[in-house]
Amino acid sequence: MTTLLDVRDLHVEFRTRDGVAKAVNGVTYSVAEGETLAVLGESGSGKSVTAQAIMGILDSPPGFVTQGEVLFQGDDLLKMSGEDRRRVRGAKMAMIFQDALSALNPVLSVGEQLGEMFVVHQGMSRKDARNKAVELMDLVRIPAARQRVREFPHQFSGGMRQRVMIAMAMALEPDLIIADEPTTALDVTVQAQVMDLLADLQREYNMGLILITHDLGVVADVADKIAVMYAGRIVETSPVHEIYKRPAHPYTKGLLDSIPRLDQKGRELYAIKGLPPNLLRIPPGCAFNPRCPMAQDICRTDVPPLYDVGPERASACYFWKETLGD
Ligand code: ADP
Ligand code: MG
Repeated sequence: MTTLLDVRDLHVEFRTRDGVAKAVNGVTYSVAEGETLAVLGESGSGKSVTAQAIMGILDSPPGFVTQGEVLFQGDDLLKMSGEDRRRVRGAKMAMIFQDALSALNPVLSVGEQLGEMFVVHQGMSRKDARNKAVELMDLVRIPAARQRVREFPHQFSGGMRQRVMIAMAMALEPDLIIADEPTTALDVTVQAQVMDLLADLQREYNMGLILITHDLGVVADVADKIAVMYAGRIVETSPVHEIYKRPAHPYTKGLLDSIPRLDQKGRELYAIKGLPPNLLRIPPGCAFNPRCPMAQDICRTDVPPLYDVGPERASACYFWKETLGD
């Protein structure tokens, strides 16, 4: 498989009045053409900030990339001019956000916003752009597209708005889509439909997809592999099915144990004790150690490296063998 995106040792910090928040602390992950990577972790673990740094939409200041490389089709995006980056963004990579209502312009019709992509990037006429907008709405299975193209975002349901966001991302047939909690704001049944749509489009167009979520439950069927983040670091990477069977990091194990399961109704749901760390004061050693049932002295002093723990598997835990249970 050809590598599409290669993020290497990425560091991002926010310089705030309260101090420097170390939001991303050496993230390394890659996505091949046509591959789906799920990035998982509790709120505040640096999933979105990593994505913003990749897309070049980091809120800067206060956010700064202080180290690392973001190789996209072999070129380091962090070394490109602003103009070159803008060309890549939109045409070759696109992002879908959790909150479609705030990502869409409330005073422009959905058709105008979809068509804008073609007017700006391809110099298309307004009329042709509107036809393209209808095509895109068909593509994302919005019923009665030809009528609805004139409507405004607030006239669409949450699920339909998220489809509009997906249509916008698909407009220029990008090679990579980053979807940041694309279904988190939706009802459970609608969540599944939107996730199915995204997965279908990903397959049909052979796109790379980064699916950011805090919910291990939603990614099992769509992701090829998973990267688990904690306090701005990757603590485990794995092909998707292996991780469900045998997690190699106690944090992943905790996340898995906290998914509600139909076959264990009535059983009290496990929750990882404690809270994610304050990024202004990340604990020494393994950042997860204060919450970890397996922590030993070394975990409180030394930052564990990412160990190779199996085929395409890595874990940043000194006790990965014990965690795997072999
Ligand atoms: P998540 O994993 O939930 O997507 P984020 O990547 O959004 O987490 O945020 C990681 C951390 O980065 C936050 O907890 C916060 O400390 C910091 N951060 C994010 N955006 C900003 C900002 N605009 N200003 C200051 N700090 C920020
Ligand atoms: Mg986020």
